[in-house]
This record gives sequence, structure tokens and C-alpha cells, in this order.
Amino acid sequence: MTQTHILGYPRIGAQRELKKAQEAYWRGEISQRELLKAGAEVRRTNWQAQRDAGLDFVTAGDFAWYDQVLNHTLMFGAVPARFREGAADNSLDQYFRLARGRAPSGEPVAANAMTKWFDTNYHYLVPEFAADQAFELNSDWLLDEVCEAQKQGHRVKPVVIGPLTYLWLGRAEGDALALLEKLLPCYEQLLQQLAEAGVDWVQIDEPILGLDLPAQWRDAFAPAFQKLDAAAPVKLLLATYFSPLRENLTLAFGLPVAGVHIDCARAPEELPEAADALGAEQVLSVGVLNGRNIWRGDLGKWQRQLQPLAEKLGERLWLSASCSLLHSPVDLETETKLPPEQLQKLAYARQKLDELQQLQSLLNGESDAEIAPAADADVSASVAEELADTWRAQPYAERAALQREKLQLPLLPTTTIGSFPQTDLLRKTRRQFRSGEISEQDYLDHLRAEIAEAVRRQEILGLDVLVHGEAERNDMVEYFGEQLDGFVHTGNGWVQSYGSRCVKPPIIFGDISRPQPMTVEWSSYAQGLTKKPVKGMLTGPVTILNWSFPREDIPRSESCLQIAKALRQEVLDLEAADIGIIQIDEPALREGVPLRESEHKGYFDWAVACFRYTCSKVKPETQIHTHMCYSNFNAIMDAIVALDADVITIESARSDLRLLQAFAGGQGGYPNEIGPGIYDIHSPNVPEREELVARLQKIAEAVPAERLWVNPDCGLKTRNWAEVGSSLLNMVEAARAVRAEL
Ligand code: GLN
Ligand code: ZN
Repeated sequence: MTQTHILGYPRIGAQRELKKAQEAYWRGEISQRELLKAGAEVRRTNWQAQRDAGLDFVTAGDFAWYDQVLNHTLMFGAVPARFREGAADNSLDQYFRLARGRAPSGEPVAANAMTKWFDTNYHYLVPEFAADQAFELNSDWLLDEVCEAQKQGHRVKPVVIGPLTYLWLGRAEGDALALLEKLLPCYEQLLQQLAEAGVDWVQIDEPILGLDLPAQWRDAFAPAFQKLDAAAPVKLLLATYFSPLRENLTLAFGLPVAGVHIDCARAPEELPEAADALGAEQVLSVGVLNGRNIWRGDLGKWQRQLQPLAEKLGERLWLSASCSLLHSPVDLETETKLPPEQLQKLAYARQKLDELQQLQSLLNGESDAEIAPAADADVSASVAEELADTWRAQPYAERAALQREKLQLPLLPTTTIGSFPQTDLLRKTRRQFRSGEISEQDYLDHLRAEIAEAVRRQEILGLDVLVHGEAERNDMVEYFGEQLDGFVHTGNGWVQSYGSRCVKPPIIFGDISRPQPMTVEWSSYAQGLTKKPVKGMLTGPVTILNWSFPREDIPRSESCLQIAKALRQEVLDLEAADIGIIQIDEPALREGVPLRESEHKGYFDWAVACFRYTCSKVKPETQIHTHMCYSNFNAIMDAIVALDADVITIESARSDLRLLQAFAGGQGGYPNEIGPGIYDIHSPNVPEREELVARLQKIAEAVPAERLWVNPDCGLKTRNWAEVGSSLLNMVEAARAVRAEL
């Protein structure tokens, strides 16, 4: 008989209870005791859900007050020196100081850096290792959690991040791998403690086994796991996910571990090879339900595929979701807005537990479910081929000349990235409209007033290319998803993004099309108020796709093409309405990049083709902008160049302008126009004029003036007007000053 378990469960709570408690605690509205209680309640509910669904284990150690990687950093005593000064007077506040730079007690401090967890939209806190980094085990939180679950009567399988993945994720002053020797004793001691606590299985996550690993890192696995194996009488389940194992598959199964988990949602093709590689006593955990999507699993298909294995392995076959359910929404029961015909196709974390149980009974011959035929995706590169030569006829140089002629902009034109402050009043008005308290007419009037105000302010500030300010959008994907056919918006499909921050991605439910123009009215309204050019503002097809839950019955590239087709209609409608500059944002282009290098080309082929398709029919004098907000472009520079937008605005202020090197002209640089963000919009600080002049001068050394734009590094919707007004004024004056020197 097969067994069932999961790699982890969402910790935000079905109604985002933890998020609410955290934020209330940070605001000083509830005591720490109340926060601790809220966390314990989430854990209790999560374990009970796993128990109720009949899973063979409950998973502990997947809870975190902010982030699971940070839990490990504290567990190993790897707290960077700067946090020692002005420390908080209790450990939870100290934890929050590391996570967010401030806490109810302790001095404010620069928080740990945050970055994306593999190719997900979850962000972890990056460990910082000093050259002489020492480690010291403090595992209280994990042991307490294990004990708590045991007291509630559960069989507990704790999860920890493996030593190699933990080191890989950190930023080391020297070679992170050199720290392994020092770190391993902590793991050995931890395993001993867990064994003493009566634990029989420990899940060790090593997702880096799905990456293109340097040889030294691969070679470090066997000796490290030999030590772990010898450390204590516990069985280790090595968990891998997010990517095929490929050349690391034999390595993974050859380690002295009692079981291996593989991600069958991402790499179903590796199942036979994994089954072959399995040792005579090893457990094979198959992650067949997609932990990162919201569709019900194809249980019939998996029953057929797994039946022979189930017969052969019996208890040594474990059924699971592909990865931790941290990446899926919590409970469909809380979805009140969706109709039954949509609900029945979906499974959130809670429902995935039930699915595991159903699959288990199917495999045990205990039930005969209706087995739906499998709808396998046809994975061809057809999109890239179909779009191969749909691109603007003139090369950039010719387009640029026509655009210069038409737009008559000064050198170093100033602009912004699109959004202006979403004020309390604006948010309140939107809520009132959505709940029916005010009429659509009143809402639209309010939006027009906001837009008029934004235009007026930009004219006074003296910006060269204006925007309408995006008052009508509260989210750059949801806004388009709501107007395109084919999307479904959930009421409670929240997924943790970082800390207390959650996102609610729309679902691509069917074929996508555009019933009517989506932004033209707003852009035209703004353009009607000024003689300066107003830039139209769209979210690009790759970003809309990457920030949604995708279909699984057709390739992602197909959905992306459908979105691109809809957006192209919008682009042409904007052009026809005399909007001469159109920005198509792609901040999530990098996010979709596969973890394995060998798959990059396939992704970029269709992603770039879809972006280009959106503007393939515009006139050469219509200027296309794009925007991305992250540093470290090096790996994707070729793709960015291939987008061939006339102008790209990028985030650079926070990365010390380092990435400018990548964008400077010349071989391998960005050949068209570029607006490196000259100040950080994430900070409430107003940049000084002199500081901006200096920065701009430095940029102007790298980028020729005729290709240089001046702008902040991202949209301004999270700022207030006072900050925005002063910052932009300084920016415009800095541009004038530098322009005068040219
Ligand atoms: N145009 C969007 C804005 O200004 C871009 C946001 C983003 O890059 N994430 O808000
Ligand atoms: Zn941005």
C-alpha cells in the first residue's frame, strides 16, 4: 500500500490569518502573545488538515514567521554582524529585524536582502556569510514545532533545507562551498536531536539538484550525505523539485538516503529512470500533483502510470505534490465567488491533500473513480515558428530618425514608468465602486479627476513625456485579466510572495481574446489635456502569463501568443487614437526563465516572439518602450536586445548602476535608447538634485546622450504625492543641468 505526504503546506492561513496577525503586531495593535497564538493556530489547522485527509505524515518545519530560509539562518547562528548592535529584546523581534529591518523592539537596521526562490514568485531572505563565518546550532523553534505536532497526536516528518542548497542560496564573501565543513556539524547535531525527539523520517530539501551545478558542488553531495546518514538513526528523504534532475539523477539516488522525492509535474519524463535508479530499500516519492498550480490533478492518468510501480514498490511508493504547497492557494472552500462549473476544475492546497488520498485509494484498488482521459499538452515550439518574421519592417536606426522628427523631444528626455500615487482616497473610491456604494459614473468621474490632476502636476514639473498615471488599475495584471476574455479571478486565491505579502494571480481558464479596447479611453483622455506626448501603458504578454496560473492543457507559449494577439489589437487602437508612444511592461520576463540553461533558448524564442508580435504592426514613427525592474540582466541580455524596443527603462538605482555596464553601448550592450532608473522609488527618501546630477553624469559617460532617457527606476504608485513631487522636480532639474553641459 502506497503512502502519502506533502513537502510543505501554506502558512498564511485560509483567510490570511497569519498575514493579518503579523501586520497587526508590527503596527503595535496586538501583543506578541496574540501573534504567537495566531501562528500556533495556523499550524494546528494545517496539521489537522493533513491528518483529516488521511496523509501518513504531517509535515513540520514548514512554518515561518517570515521565511523558511531565514529560519535556517537563525538556526545555524549565521546572523550578520550588523544585527548584533541595537538588537531587539526578544528573539522574535530580532527575527523581524533581520527580515524587514525593523521590529517593535530594537534599532532599525538594513534588512537582509531578498530574492526569488528558484523560479517561483516566493522571495526568501538571502543568507550573508562572512569569510570567517562560524555556525552554531540553535534548533529550538524546530524541535518545539515537532513536539507541538506530536502532542497533537500526529506522526511528524520535519523538513529542513539541505546544507548544500542552504549554502548555495547565500551570498558569501569567499567561496560558500568552503563553509560546508563548518556547517555540517550543525546538521549532524540537529538530526541527533530529531532522532531523540522520536522522529523517524526527516525531509531534506536539495532543490539545487535540479540546476546546472558546478562540479565541485556536485562532488560535495556524497561526502556530506555520508556524514548526515551516519549522524543519527533517522531516515532521510531527499527532496528535489522545480526542475529535471538529468545528470544529477544518478547522483541523487546514489546518496545514502532512505528515499528521494522527484517533481513529476515539471519532469514527468524522468519517472521511469528514477524508478530504475531506486535502491532496493529506497522510497520513491512522486510529486504528481502540481504544487504550483490550481488545477485538479489528472488522477486517472496517474493511476494508469503508477499502477505497476505501486504494485512493485508498495509502501516504498509515496504519493505527493510536486513541491511544497506554499506555492498554491490554501482552501477552495473559501472561494465564494466562482460558479460550480469553474470550482469543480480547481484544487487548492487543502483539496490537493484529498486528491492524494483519492489517488492512494485508486492505486490500492479501493475505489473506482471516473477516469477522465488525459489531456496532454502538445509541446511544440510552434509559436516561435509561427511568429518568426512578424516584426517591424524598419530597423531601429530608421525608426529612431522618424520618431525624433515626429516627437521633437529634447536630449535626455524625462519621463516616469507609468503609475502615480494610489492615494487612500483613490483606493477607497475603488472599494466603494466594487461594493456598489457608488455608481460606475461616479467612479469613472473620479478616475478622470485623478488623471487630470496627474497630467497637471507633470506639466508643472516640466516632464517631457507624460503618463496618465494608471489610476484605473490596482494591479498591472489583474486590470488586463479583468478585461480580457479567458481569465478567471478568484476571491481568495492568495499565495505568499514574501513575509506578510500575498499575491492573487488570475487563472488563465480558456482561450484569451479582447472583446473591446482596454486602455484607449484613459490614454486619450490624458492626451486631450496636454500638448506634451502621453505614453500609452500596457502590461506585456510574458508578464501577464508569468503572473497568472497557466493552463496545463496547452503549452504556455500558446497562451502567451493569445495574449500577444489581444495586446496587438490594443497597441493598434492606441496608435489609431494618436498615442505616439506606447510602453509595454515586461517586468516578469526573467521570472519565466527555466532553471536549466539548456531550456533557456526554447523559452526566449517564444517569449521574445510574443513581445515583438504585440508591436509588429505599428508605424515606424510610433515609439515602443518597455520596462523591467530588476538588476542582474547579464544572463538575459541577448533576449532583451532581441525585444528591440525603441526605448527600455530599467531599474538600476538600487544596484549602484553596476548593470549599466551591460547596457552601455558597443558590443554586447543595448543598442537602442535606454532610461536607467536614476533613483530608487522603493525608498521614501527624496533624492537630492546634486546627487541626481552626479549620477546622471556618470551614466552619460556610459550611454551616448542621444540614446539616454531620464526616469525613476519603477512606477510611483506606492509613494505619496509629496515625495513624488519633490523627487521628480529634482530629477527634471538634474536632467536640465546635465543637458546644458552637453
Ligand atoms: N507601469 C507599471 C507602473 O508604473 C510598471 C510596474 C512594474 O514595473 N512592476 O506601476
Ligand atoms: Zn518596475
